[in-house]
Amino acid sequence: LVRSMSLRLDDFPHTGTLIYDSTHALIPAAAISTLAAEKLSEAIRVKGKATVSIQMSCQTLPDVPSFNVIGEIRGSERPNEFITIGGHLDSWDVGHGAHDDGAGVVQSMDVLRLLQRIGYKPRHTIRCVLFMNEENGLRGGKAYAAEAIRKAEKHVCAIESDAGGFTPRGFSFEGDDAVFATLFQRMKALEPLFEPYGMKFSKGGSGADISPLRSTKALLSGYQPDSQRYFDYHHTADDTFDKVNKRELELGAASMAALVYLIDKYGL
Ligand SMILES: [Zn+2]
Repeated sequence: LVRSMSLRLDDFPHTGTLIYDSTHALIPAAAISTLAAEKLSEAIRVKGKATVSIQMSCQTLPDVPSFNVIGEIRGSERPNEFITIGGHLDSWDVGHGAHDDGAGVVQSMDVLRLLQRIGYKPRHTIRCVLFMNEENGLRGGKAYAAEAIRKAEKHVCAIESDAGGFTPRGFSFEGDDAVFATLFQRMKALEPLFEPYGMKFSKGGSGADISPLRSTKALLSGYQPDSQRYFDYHHTADDTFDKVNKRELELGAASMAALVYLIDKYGL
């Protein structure tokens, strides 16, 4: 347990390779938020060097059992084929984890509520997965994919919301090389339905929790909200509930529900 330490950035080489292996004594390592990194970077730019004092009270405790939380609407025609939507339950300790990723958790649950509210009976099973332990090892995402593979569950599509509860801008898509080109082409056919709402479909990363599902050949999608304010809050003490705009959050949930509806109804 490191109670406190101070280090001078001059102690670390700015060029060359620092070889850090078992022949070296372990040094304390800490992750800082993007916001803090920007401030540090600015201080170094202005003053040429900076002295940093870091207090840490963290410790690594033994593993304990923990759980993903899953809810689903069973499919009427293809109950053994799954469309999943999800976010992650855990967060950094410093704030509430409101945007990262309380927003994604609420939106994913809301997709099921919205589909029920309009009386829609999905063809596929629509499954909401709230993943545990994204921030520190991805155990929930890995366990979910391992179970899906063990039970030979066919995953048609997995959608993750983990970029904040801001105004919808689009969805990004990725997947296994063997199937992705065809799947993306089919998704592009749906894009005009989203364009009136200012949303675009692009190729790109989806979400950490669903990434272990790639080998199942599911189409993986990341909900893409407006990104301008996310890193003002991400992993900082400011990521609190009052920073979430209800209207923007709801628009994201509605966008995800629309995508799920279209994939369920018209297939991939
Ligand atoms: Zn996150």
